[in-house]
Amino acid sequence: MYVQRCAWVLKKAWLDYRKKQIDRANAAVSFSSIENYSISFRNHFNSFYKKFPKYVGRVFDWKNLDRLARIKYIEKLVPYVLKFGKITRDVTVKFPGSYHGALASTNGREMSFYDKLLDSDDHDEIIESIAHESQHVYQIRNTETALTPDIVAASTQNYIQPHENMEYYLKNPIEIEAFKTGRKVGRRFTDALRQKYGFDRGRAG
Ligand SMILES: [Zn+2]
Repeated sequence: MYVQRCAWVLKKAWLDYRKKQIDRANAAVSFSSIENYSISFRNHFNSFYKKFPKYVGRVFDWKNLDRLARIKYIEKLVPYVLKFGKITRDVTVKFPGSYHGALASTNGREMSFYDKLLDSDDHDEIIESIAHESQHVYQIRNTETALTPDIVAASTQNYIQPHENMEYYLKNPIEIEAFKTGRKVGRRFTDALRQKYGFDRGRAG
């Protein structure tokens, strides 16, 4: 009886282990296919998993978090999204209230997350916004994005805010790049959380 039980426990442990390995391999493959990204996510992926605390992945609770808990969650999450993209700059995170209906913005190494984002119940939107803003920090370094230093400089000098003119804002090269790559990185990040913590696809609460 005891031996049988041991065998059952060992078999289950082995199956769990194998399943985890397959999940990790699949996730690593999907990460490596990001366009315009010459960074190897594959190596980074495993270290990210080891360091990412379990409670940060408990996104089911997002809807039930109050304002202060949401702020703390975003503060904790930002360094992981930055590390995920191998962005080594130190970033200051601020929560300055509202700004013309914007979700978030980045000025140099300072990221601001506004009330509109804190009030959103859409967890995917939180992740994508952080990934988008991380991309702006990365663009300043601009060694490995598709943008050249001249384009980044011109885009920054001629920057038009979304509330000034949404059409021109969306045509700004640094925004085109941040939306494109930020969405991809954000979605892959969310998928990684889903695989790791086993919650359902679709909009997490
Ligand atoms: Zn942007």
